[in-house]
Amino acid sequence: MIARSIVLVVACGLAGSPNAQTQPSAATVFQNVRIFDGKGGRLSGPSHVLVRGNRIERISSAPIPADQRPDAVMIDGGGRTLMPGLIDVHWHAMLVRPTPAAAMAADIGYSNLVASAEAADTLLRGFTTVRDLGGPAFGLKRAIDEGIVAGPRILPSGAVITVTSGHGDFRQLFELPRILGGPPARMEALGASMVADSPDEVRVRVREQLMQGASQIKLTAGGGVASPHSPLDVSTFTEPELRAAVEAAENWGTYVTVHAYTPATIRRAIAAGVKCIEHGHLMDEATAKLMAQHGIWLSIQPFPDEMADVFPRGSQEWEKAQEVLAATDRAYALAKKYRLKTAFGTDILFSQALAQRQGALLAKLVRWYTPAEALVMATGTNAQLLAMSGKRNPYPGKLGVVEEGALADLLLVDGNPIEDIKLVEDPAKNFVLIMKDGKIYKNTLGR
Ligand SMILES: [Zn+2]
Repeated sequence: MIARSIVLVVACGLAGSPNAQTQPSAATVFQNVRIFDGKGGRLSGPSHVLVRGNRIERISSAPIPADQRPDAVMIDGGGRTLMPGLIDVHWHAMLVRPTPAAAMAADIGYSNLVASAEAADTLLRGFTTVRDLGGPAFGLKRAIDEGIVAGPRILPSGAVITVTSGHGDFRQLFELPRILGGPPARMEALGASMVADSPDEVRVRVREQLMQGASQIKLTAGGGVASPHSPLDVSTFTEPELRAAVEAAENWGTYVTVHAYTPATIRRAIAAGVKCIEHGHLMDEATAKLMAQHGIWLSIQPFPDEMADVFPRGSQEWEKAQEVLAATDRAYALAKKYRLKTAFGTDILFSQALAQRQGALLAKLVRWYTPAEALVMATGTNAQLLAMSGKRNPYPGKLGVVEEGALADLLLVDGNPIEDIKLVEDPAKNFVLIMKDGKIYKNTLGR
């Protein structure tokens, strides 16, 4: 048995070293791999891939001569599958591990350290990019990008914007009435969610997120599962309020996505110029048709059955979770029937145990899609949604694909995930190499 060593290159050991910074174009050559490119449904024939710096420089069916540089890394792929890093387009980096109460009450320094540990785990599950749809993740993103801690690329929304009583309003009833111009509620002081009750207030809150570096803007247009005050059936923002957000975001070159479950909420959002619907589980046929006509993205997920269990059995939140779970089949059927632009994001909240099943939730898509379709969705298609941020995308370059010139976010998989998507359920075992931005964060093959 060959001794295997895990090389978990925590970024402070690599990008932080002056050596790495003075030699930005170090090369890695993957020899003898078969490529899943994030676009098509087949693996390539035996191939060789040269990564230089943070980009894929060359892909060839002929061997690529060993780089002459002493720091060049040669990886013998042994016929394994090389694929793009996975993308989760509905993530909350700051809210994965804490309970709702801890998220509100804990010291923000502590919360950041917890989120940093989770970010390293997220990357080691093969998710090299996340679109963060709510929470104060700007600092974490910066620390990851600067190579201080390990984690995925983060496209942050900043605070979720909600109305009084809406999804994301986690205040207690004793905190009412809200005084306009008064001190912020705890969730607002943290930057987790912001209450806005008029078009003017919406504009302020949207612009505050953009000022901090939001790559897209997230509003909650209707009721939700994990919030104490909003029934699932309600629409919260008015159309003029949604339109104010869209205008401010579009002036800034980006777009608004909204949390919305019901047909009425989705239709109002589309009328206001919103470009992406988060969830959409309760949509009907006419709404699906409307989304198709307007080219609206559907960012949906098969929630795990256990999602309900983070709430007390029989509680309002638990009941709402049941309703959404029951509607999931129909939503995916409509998405397929009307060929909606459909993205994959897990929306895992408040549970480290569930987070460890991030890949398993992706594999769950084979209830509706072929393994290849599911993997294309979580790579190439998800990257198209990320590109909607335009110049506000903090990571210019192509993500989600293996092609020359693309950013080098790559997984080396021990097996063929197109034949056996369950491989993504156990990344610790099956993802033998994880690269992000040209840097190797895990390698169990040895050199
Ligand atoms: Zn969410």
